[in-house]
Amino acid sequence: MPFKDECGVFGVCDSQDAANLAYLGLYALQHRGQESAGIATLEDGRIHVEREMGYVADVFDEARLARLPGRTAIGHVRYSTAGASLLINAQPIVFATGRGPLALAHNGNLVNARQIRSQLERSGAVFTTTSDSELILHLIARSRASNLQAAIAEALLDVRGAYSLLILSVEGIFAVRDPNGIRPLSLGVREGAPVAASESCAFDLIGAKFERDVEPGEIVKLSREGFSTHRFAFPTYTPCIFEHVYFARPDSLVFGKSVAATREAFGARLAREHPAIADVVVPVPDSGMYAALGYARESGIPFALGLVRNHYVGRTFIEPKQAIRHFGVKVKLNPVREVVEGKRVVLVDDSIVRGTTSRKIVRMLRDAGAREVHVRISSPPTMASCHYGIDTPTRRELIAATQSVSEIRDFVEADSLGYLSSEGMLEAFGRPQQATCTACFTGIYPVEVPEEEREKEHALDAR
Ligand code: SF4
Repeated sequence: MPFKDECGVFGVCDSQDAANLAYLGLYALQHRGQESAGIATLEDGRIHVEREMGYVADVFDEARLARLPGRTAIGHVRYSTAGASLLINAQPIVFATGRGPLALAHNGNLVNARQIRSQLERSGAVFTTTSDSELILHLIARSRASNLQAAIAEALLDVRGAYSLLILSVEGIFAVRDPNGIRPLSLGVREGAPVAASESCAFDLIGAKFERDVEPGEIVKLSREGFSTHRFAFPTYTPCIFEHVYFARPDSLVFGKSVAATREAFGARLAREHPAIADVVVPVPDSGMYAALGYARESGIPFALGLVRNHYVGRTFIEPKQAIRHFGVKVKLNPVREVVEGKRVVLVDDSIVRGTTSRKIVRMLRDAGAREVHVRISSPPTMASCHYGIDTPTRRELIAATQSVSEIRDFVEADSLGYLSSEGMLEAFGRPQQATCTACFTGIYPVEVPEEEREKEHALDAR
């Protein structure tokens, strides 16, 4: 899947094992960002931080976790969507302010970051990172509000876009979600200690109980006393539907819904919209798994694992120079000849981006003896870029931005191709268009994207 996940955040307040719990929480959220990992803890009014490029398990060992004392911690895993992929941009970002030290972990992307940055630079601000997340700390530091919570609220009035934040302070952790609630952020409790995480799968790993989501436009303070809440903006809730299509883990509750159940519902609806006369339903693992289950259940066609995924392909894997046909995909996926030979196969995946991977998989199934391959996609054609924190390719790279469904079918060499409709996706998700972000499928952006940001995309398209 060529989409890159955005970021994941985790926080725990007033717990003896704060750094260890943050490590485990980040481990569960690794799918949300694989470039860098970091943890900040608070002890006696001082913030300690450890950050590094790499996977959570590679960045942290016992010695490093021991350098993170204190009963309160926040953590972050990152894939860069704004700001270069550099260690200086790894989070949490730590900042000394008149209100004491702060550390920030941000999931999302601000659409007016460039304007705010140049305003702040004109008034003398000096930045230590190139990421948009640092802007929020600058705005908080400059606020003259009477207390930290009010300063956070004031700072956020200036920023637009997607942000699920954890801010570590001497008062506790502030968990914040933008008024559109584009990215997820949930609250839980572990042995009386309040916790927060991008997805509930992090709670499962540490034995915490899910409580609720941070509401759009809400600041929740996590402290020794538990949760206290403050509303800083009127909510206009438009959560990112792609979290349910692809990004989030299927065992998570995201936006109050089971991701696995939503994906199955997408698949069932897809079967009704695009039936196929076939012998077997095969998912592209792992992304098409639950949609394929839904498709099989609804259509009555047997489900079978006709492709096997190698889960141990790390970043250190070196592709040999010599040209081996379909090499890149074959490293990750291999067909099970016994399942597909002589069969009419329905191949289910969550999306098609450039089309090249889908074509390789179709060819792979035919090479393994599949008689027909009917491709079914559990979301509508992806035709626009995301400006809210997902690293989508530019429009020019998205095959559906320039080609019709029949042209894509020919390109991927399928016998037939069917995408889930926008209406079908929203119905299965259980929210109307105006209350959901579907921009990468529809081009309808719920938070206005400034012209210069769109121009940036067009400039990339024109390259
Ligand atoms: Fe999610 Fe797509 Fe909206 Fe980005 S544009 S927030 S990926 S639905």
